[in-house]
Amino acid sequence: MSKLQNIKGMRDHLGQAMLLRQHIVAVLTQVAERHGFEPLQTPVVEYAELLEGKLGDDEKLIYRFEDNGGRRLALRYDQTVPLARVVAQYAGQLMFPWRRYAYGPSYRGERPARGRYREFYQFDADIVGSASPLADAEIVAILTESLEALGFPGFTTLLNHRQVIGGIARASGLDETVAGGVYRSIDKFDKLGADGVREELLKMGVAPESAAQILALVQIDGDPHDVLEELSGRLGDDERAAQALENLRAVIGGLVEMGVAPERYKVAPRLARGLSYYTGLVFEAATPHWPEGSLLGGGRYDELIGQFAGRAIPTVGLAFGIDRLHDVMDELGLGPRLASTATAYVTIFAAGLEADSLALARELRAGGVNTLISLEAGGGLGKQLKDADRKGVRFALVLGPDELARGEVVLKDLRGGAQRSVARGEVVAVIADSR
Ligand code: AMP
Repeated sequence: MSKLQNIKGMRDHLGQAMLLRQHIVAVLTQVAERHGFEPLQTPVVEYAELLEGKLGDDEKLIYRFEDNGGRRLALRYDQTVPLARVVAQYAGQLMFPWRRYAYGPSYRGERPARGRYREFYQFDADIVGSASPLADAEIVAILTESLEALGFPGFTTLLNHRQVIGGIARASGLDETVAGGVYRSIDKFDKLGADGVREELLKMGVAPESAAQILALVQIDGDPHDVLEELSGRLGDDERAAQALENLRAVIGGLVEMGVAPERYKVAPRLARGLSYYTGLVFEAATPHWPEGSLLGGGRYDELIGQFAGRAIPTVGLAFGIDRLHDVMDELGLGPRLASTATAYVTIFAAGLEADSLALARELRAGGVNTLISLEAGGGLGKQLKDADRKGVRFALVLGPDELARGEVVLKDLRGGAQRSVARGEVVAVIADSR
């Protein structure tokens, strides 16, 4: 090995970055549990066959390998296909509707770029076994509550329905065989703009009039009810599209009843979403601060689980991209900037006084204060205080012979530098009060 390095597109996360990531996951977990979701963990490795035939064009991005026993395995591409396996495998044990959340890494052999990695972490929340539009609305409510709890400023969730896009394709006279490519092009609308998409459509062999019609339809914008009205006017004759629009109306009704603020979502006929297993609602949340891609995505996939279970089990869910949330929060300075897991740093005044300092550290920890201890008195207090400061700990504590005699400790606030003597029995409370 010539150079020590990690694999391209797969990242190491050291202390401070990891603390922010843990904060993000804690907030998402809290919101999911507030809605009564229960946790699920599945292995990172699955039989390759399980993942194949579900992802459309994206299948080429699956990491596949043979293990020492000659089995054809794959790293999971997302947490949705593994969920479908679990539902089929444990259907007898599960109570539907089953709400589950899951957090872990997924793998895709993509070309790495800003916000696009080969190993990335997703946090999923799904409602399995309900076709109710209220299930769709609850998932969108969860994502809204989560982004609000993380402190995201302007974010919008774009909502659409697979059969609205299907209706647009049909109304524009498109053959089902080119429809897949057309959806992928439409999905890039925000990136390529109208001209870019038109160019791609023409290259695909779509007639100029059809391309113009598609572009006119996908650009319908405005208040959700107006967009739905206008689409009904244009696509209403197509029965599947009409039903889809009715479904979107019901989902939006649910959002209103669940108290989701109207400025948080839009109906966007241009939203297609890549994964081929979606059958109904699709959505994506984005922020203007991150034009490169979505913070999260999801939708309804009523048929995927049926491929394993032998009967249709309607399901809706979402996947947050932890790496995207992390990158954006890092850039915007959102979330707590924790420098250390410790709040207190106990110094050793002089050789021979270790036991007293260690006892103090024990008292602090017993009182719920995360505490680092100095490992040696050598170099003096100055060196230890500098060490505490560099590590980003808020308080340093000094316990010398005078303090010991008086039953006190010196508490130094490293943010600002003020220091004072505090009765030993009160130090935990003083630290708790000043945090
Ligand atoms: P998907 O599973 O494609 O629906 O993606 C759901 C979310 O996962 C996206 O909105 C992104 O936040 C995140 N995501 C997907 N692919 C990547 C990737 N290659 N790198 C980082 N995050 C990703």
